[in-house]
Amino acid sequence: MLTNYTVVMMGGDARQLEIIRRLCEWDANVLLVGFDQLDHGFTGAKQVTMEDLDPKQSDALILPVPGTNDQGEMETIFSKKPIVLQKEWLQRTPEHCIVFTGITNPYLTSIAKETNRTLVSLFNRDDVAIYNSVPTVEGTIMMAIQHTDYTIHSSDVIVLGIGRVGMSVARAFSALGAKVKVAARKSEDLARAHEMALEPILIQELKEHVQHSDIVINTIPAPVITANVLQNMKSSTFVIDLASKPGGTDFRYAEKRGIKALLAPGLPGIVAPKTAGNILANVITQIMKERYNERGTKS
Ligand code: NAP
Repeated sequence: MLTNYTVVMMGGDARQLEIIRRLCEWDANVLLVGFDQLDHGFTGAKQVTMEDLDPKQSDALILPVPGTNDQGEMETIFSKKPIVLQKEWLQRTPEHCIVFTGITNPYLTSIAKETNRTLVSLFNRDDVAIYNSVPTVEGTIMMAIQHTDYTIHSSDVIVLGIGRVGMSVARAFSALGAKVKVAARKSEDLARAHEMALEPILIQELKEHVQHSDIVINTIPAPVITANVLQNMKSSTFVIDLASKPGGTDFRYAEKRGIKALLAPGLPGIVAPKTAGNILANVITQIMKERYNERGTKS
């Protein structure tokens, strides 16, 4: 249980609601900043403003999945009021205060380091990334269905990258009957693609393989679908770029060539916010329980 622990939820989207629900179940004292337009309440959670908050009482902070921008501003879909996390504010939290974010950036990393607060970047964890690949795959399938007039079955698909998302995407499209090639740079990844009965291709040779592709799905956060590669694609190829912003596609050139190429960030939060929130809630509550059990019950 998290009885007597105060957790501050700062902004975010529908995924946060699942986390709030779970924290309330665990009897935490939950303070919500940036939820004034939320149309339902939670027993055990209280709406506050940043000005009302006493940093000294914050045992944990939960930031939105994208974290902050490089000025510390956070996005929230449940309020129009800006929320900003500043170093001076964080410094006033108790030393044991733990900060959760989906992804971090130089601003967040540096204020956490300078204030000596633990920053947990949830999406850096393999467990979160792998669980999260499930709704990401479903969102990718949804996009492929919405934006093409042919079946995934029998289509030629290239998946770039065979990491936590790429592997799940390649497996799912193959299971739906697509002819899937996987592009990677490491020989062990090419071997893995072969083991999965997928056609491995060396990323450096991508250009030679895209000519007949119907759908190209990128998971590599680096410029891999370059103008050079796009030049060899059919204009009917559909490119889904899943990599974090700015993606790995030369979108300007794709548009010039008449190739439909879409950056598709945050699919779990769009197609399955409840599941995506649950994944985060599981890890956050587990980390908090471990940490607080070490410290003993708060009285
Ligand atoms: P990951 O496990 O680190 O996999 C990344 C893959 O990209 C690996 O195969 C890696 O291979 C490869 N790679 C990285 N840099 C490369 C380069 N310069 N050239 C060739 N290959 C390179 O990451 P992940 O968890 O699968 O996530 C992939 C991306 O999707 C991330 O940007 C993540 O933020 C994003 N994502 C998006 C969504 C969405 O909804 N759109 C959801 C989840 C994740 P090496 O081992 O050779 O580096």
